[in-house]
Amino acid sequence: MDHQLSPGLYIVATPIGNLGDITLRAVETLRGVAAIACEDTRVTGKLLNHLGIKKRMIRYDDHASEYDRDKLLALLAEQPVALVSDAGTPLISDPGYRLVKLAREAGIVVTSLPGPSAAVVALTLAGLPSDRFLFAGFLPSKDKARRDVLAELAAVPATLVFYETAPRLDDSLAAIDVVLPGREVGVARELTKKFEECRTGSPEELRAHYAAHPPKGEIVLLVGPPAEPTADSFDIDAMLRAELETEKPSQAAGKVAKLTGLDRKVLYARALELK
Ligand code: SAM
Repeated sequence: MDHQLSPGLYIVATPIGNLGDITLRAVETLRGVAAIACEDTRVTGKLLNHLGIKKRMIRYDDHASEYDRDKLLALLAEQPVALVSDAGTPLISDPGYRLVKLAREAGIVVTSLPGPSAAVVALTLAGLPSDRFLFAGFLPSKDKARRDVLAELAAVPATLVFYETAPRLDDSLAAIDVVLPGREVGVARELTKKFEECRTGSPEELRAHYAAHPPKGEIVLLVGPPAEPTADSFDIDAMLRAELETEKPSQAAGKVAKLTGLDRKVLYARALELK
């Protein structure tokens, strides 16, 4: 197989728990590359052992020295090299971004072999809207920073997906309860593993459940999108009055319609009343 792979960088997704979730192409590629760049040689060594593959491993993360990265780039230009992370898809809250950017800039071929990623598995499981989602990595560990990030995302009309750790779950649920009140939340835990579970509910319900059953293992936290705006969501009169100071009723109605998504004709009628 060695001779079939051209030089370049092969991004290879690996299982997030269930070793059966590796693709045939991933196995063939890991067999065929000259070396495998990985976060932790012990973790990747175990996977390779399971697959019966012996291969040179090179430790790599985005904090690697320029010297190490240049050496890896020189190797990629000459030989096929895979990049894997400890679990899941490289670059998704895992190393690889810098390497891919530099490899592309250097004209080196980069290809990506799709496979598991906890964010996507959680989204397919939670029963929250999946037509639009925003993946936001890990929330900050400090309370103020965590609330600031949640506030920044409050108006995004999409399901929010975060990576989370068991010890911080309660703090994050408490912050969501305050900053994003009324949202449906999902906790997807130990995906693809023996004790996989996915619970949805209000932050309050989930906090009560996990206070009684302390969570273990790996977690993806999901927050449903904000409710569709209604006239009650906005102080329409105040918005129209502000616009009417400089605009005609029809223009004021148009601007407020754009901002709120509410019906322009209804807003126009109200603007005429206010004028
Ligand atoms: N690159 C990986 C991916 O594509 O899923 C994610 C790496 S990130 C460093 C690790 C985080 O992913 C964990 O802290 C957890 O939030 C989430 N995660 C990974 N495996 C998981 C699993 N089996 N079940 C739930 N969450 C998981």
